[in-house]
Amino acid sequence: MNILILGSGGREHALAWAVMQNPKCDKLIVAPGNAGIAQIADCASFDINSGTAVVNFAEENAIDFVIVGPEAPLANGVADRLREAGILTFGPSEGAARLEASKSFTKEICDASNAPTASYGHFTDAEAAKAYIRNEGAPIVVKADGLAAGKGVIVAMDVQTALDAIDDMFGGAFGGAGAEVVIEEFMDGEEASFFVLCDGKTALPVGTAQDHKRVGEGDTGPNTGGMGAYSPAPVLTDEIAQKALDQIVQPTIDEMAKRGTPYTGVLYVGLMIKDGQPRLVEYNVRFGDPECQVLMMRLGAQAMDLLQAAAEERLADAKVNWADDHAITVVIAANGYPGSYDKGSVIDGLKDLPEDSMNMVFHAGTTAKDGVVTATGGRVLNVTARGASLQEACDRAYAMVEQIDWDGGFYRRDIGWRAL
Ligand code: ATP
Repeated sequence: MNILILGSGGREHALAWAVMQNPKCDKLIVAPGNAGIAQIADCASFDINSGTAVVNFAEENAIDFVIVGPEAPLANGVADRLREAGILTFGPSEGAARLEASKSFTKEICDASNAPTASYGHFTDAEAAKAYIRNEGAPIVVKADGLAAGKGVIVAMDVQTALDAIDDMFGGAFGGAGAEVVIEEFMDGEEASFFVLCDGKTALPVGTAQDHKRVGEGDTGPNTGGMGAYSPAPVLTDEIAQKALDQIVQPTIDEMAKRGTPYTGVLYVGLMIKDGQPRLVEYNVRFGDPECQVLMMRLGAQAMDLLQAAAEERLADAKVNWADDHAITVVIAANGYPGSYDKGSVIDGLKDLPEDSMNMVFHAGTTAKDGVVTATGGRVLNVTARGASLQEACDRAYAMVEQIDWDGGFYRRDIGWRAL
């Protein structure tokens, strides 16, 4: 098969790495890709958010299967255009991608299917939103309705912070995304992510993970795209995962099908777990980054078969071959991230690192010229390892981190602390 992956992050490097190991893969192109991906696949440059551009490229290059990494092309209907052109595609339609693109839509689906989640109000008027906050009290959570790159959520511990968030959002702090807000009950508990492949009807779990969003050790400091992750998530026991499937995921899939927008692709189910009960925090319509890196490390080559089974609506017959293993990824970011950071510093020591089924460095913000790798992004490398225990995986990953010679970067030394 000729395969095209859309995206340029550590997530897409991990997907490319897994796909490449599958004998079904004859040719792999990643658009736009990055320096790490360029070592294992061809990279191409075109507008991945344009359905026309993606379809044209896929047709010109005889692509049999397209895997869409990030949410933006999905929310733009790229998967719809590909399917209309008769090209097998992994990723939801624009209508189904609303599960990530609109928080009020997701709440409406939860209402319709009785899924456990935070109680909420949905507002398009600032004064009504403020009245709701004053009435509910704090803590309370204020969310811009649309896509805001993870920055549109304010967890307010006091009423004034929540009221200020309303002023910011209606004042245009998040552009169009803030013209509507969802205000939610604050949920207490431990967060974990559950990843489920869907083919419109069937749900197939492909792993659990927990990430570290804060920049600083001990989960302190500003939020980031994620400084590391590990899989499995011990808090998401088989019993809780089954509850999440039965009470949240399957009812969502059924409701989406009923509405004529069947969900196909991966559903990233963000859960809050307390006293053995999962509640939905959010859906994302793509793999998480960096969670994808640990999932792919554990799934390996079979990931390709599973994604294809989802795209071909054959999940009822699909099965994951689990090893009793653990994986961890440590993100190395550019000094200054998540604020402003320098670009262009040289990263050494990568060539000497092992690259095998237990150890991989997935690239995110890198470019390479004449064999010299330079940093171009905020999150730059994902040092990923697998082991029989989380501790073993962790020791392996940090041993690799220490061999990387890059003055311009930093990392957290405590990834996985909660589970260890
Ligand atoms: P991202 O995709 O980056 O996780 P997002 O913008 O899609 O973020 P959410 O996932 O809905 O937003 O919220 C971001 C974070 O805020 C959650 O991971 C969680 O820690 C916290 N949060 C959201 N809703 C609640 C809630 N009702 N109660 C407690 N915490 C919450």
